[in-house]
Amino acid sequence: MDLLRVQESLPVAAECDLLVCGGGCSGITAAVAAARHGVRVVLLERWPSVGGMATNALVNGWHRSDREEMVIYGLVEESAQRAERHGWIRRDPAYPHAHETHWFDPEGMRIVWQRMLDEAGVRTFCYLTAGEPLVEGGRLRGVLADTKRGRQAFLGQIVIDATGDGDIFAKANVPHNLGRPEDGRVQGMTEIFALRGVDDSEEARARRAEQCEAVLARMRELAARGEFPPFNEGNTRHYLGGRALNHVGWNMLPVAGDPLDEEELSRLTALARERLVSYLEFWRENVPGMAEAVIEQTAFTLGVRESRRLRGRKTLDREMVLNAVKQPDALGHGVWMIDIHDPLGSGYTTYTDRDDRSMLAAGTSYHLPLGMCLTHEIPNLAVVGRCASATHEALASCRVQTHCMVLGQGVGTAAALALDSGRDLAQVSLPDLHARLRADGVYLEEVP
Ligand SMILES: Cc1cc2nc3c(=O)[nH]c(=O)nc-3n(C[C@H](O)[C@H](O)[C@H](O)COP(=O)(O)OP(=O)(O)OC[C@H]3O[C@@H](n4cnc5c(N)ncnc54)[C@H](O)[C@@H]3O)c2cc1C
Repeated sequence: MDLLRVQESLPVAAECDLLVCGGGCSGITAAVAAARHGVRVVLLERWPSVGGMATNALVNGWHRSDREEMVIYGLVEESAQRAERHGWIRRDPAYPHAHETHWFDPEGMRIVWQRMLDEAGVRTFCYLTAGEPLVEGGRLRGVLADTKRGRQAFLGQIVIDATGDGDIFAKANVPHNLGRPEDGRVQGMTEIFALRGVDDSEEARARRAEQCEAVLARMRELAARGEFPPFNEGNTRHYLGGRALNHVGWNMLPVAGDPLDEEELSRLTALARERLVSYLEFWRENVPGMAEAVIEQTAFTLGVRESRRLRGRKTLDREMVLNAVKQPDALGHGVWMIDIHDPLGSGYTTYTDRDDRSMLAAGTSYHLPLGMCLTHEIPNLAVVGRCASATHEALASCRVQTHCMVLGQGVGTAAALALDSGRDLAQVSLPDLHARLRADGVYLEEVP
């Protein structure tokens, strides 16, 4: 699209140094990190609040430990500390001897992150979908957006695609991949929900634990006959095995499909809610303490794990993850396993089945490199979060929020350095970048 023509005919809604498209955990951390280094930042988010999957899909668990010690700090730690002041986060009982370290209240984290953006001076535009990218002379000048007041341009010297779906790089014709190599299918999605009205007394919980395997066997049997929806067995065992169940986010309801097809997403979201009704009817009859259970909440959006993945300067792959490979352009550490949810939607996951071949050795972590966020094609475009450059398998590790936030903070800081020095993102001084990240509390060890 010809930028000059656009500027003549369209109003410019905002002009800034760094334009961040997408306000999930990766976009937020990119925006905050850059703004704290004096960069004028605008953040565009299509939903009414920031947080992406973490807040709007009710995904609330963090992975920060290599199972011996915590290796992810920086803005992740700051978010945790801020949430802790209000009682909006708690440590996992296994801390730090499991990858999972924290569980937070999505409502609280929404507030924490918006405060961080506001205090850093980031201009946040929610309710606004970033549309057509404006490409001029091989560089991005910004994006167009259809606003309530008509079509407007948002301009920035550097643009970050944090949309999770890679909307900006795809529309700018930057090479990318979708799904697993054999059939292009992405990981299964999940609709998270919460219940109330469950009897969580000690006695009811004990009876649930006692009958859990029998209930699961019956669910399995009915599902095999096509008379019950698919479910994630490992996680269902976790919930029905004697835990308190009121107000808890259940992560066990799978659906599968194309995350880029709005009609299919609408159908899948409705299907997921129908499946929940089927579960509930069965549980009310068959699970101790659940006779009065009702739906408290279904997540505002279906939880999407995987969508377009950039083909960037560097691509994180399975070996880099599992062999804990260290990188000269490291932004921080990753710890999570190759956690693949069946792309056909059966509910099977490598996580709940504890597939050891997909797990890093305890006490080891890999580096998340800057190169996986940069493109060969457009020097002032960066990509953070779950649409950065990784294979289908490696994404199954680096997609978790703490890792997306490492990418966000790292790239936001690199953008500030690039703007300061008048260089492109790929030319920033790595020693300077590492010094700034460490000064900002990022854990960064063993950089080769
Ligand atoms: C069911 C489920 C369970 C998970 N379990 C865990 C877990 O236990 N622990 C964990 O850490 N991670 C988990 N994950 C993964 C993790 O939540 C996500 O991968 C991570 O939140 C991705 O962050 P992101 O910022 O890259 O993208 P998102 O969180 O998807 O954020 C992208 C944002 O961009 C916005 N956006 C999209 N397109 C546009 C556009 N064109 N213009 C403007 N805004 C746009 C979206 O509305 C959204 O707010 C899970 C994911 C799912 C779905």
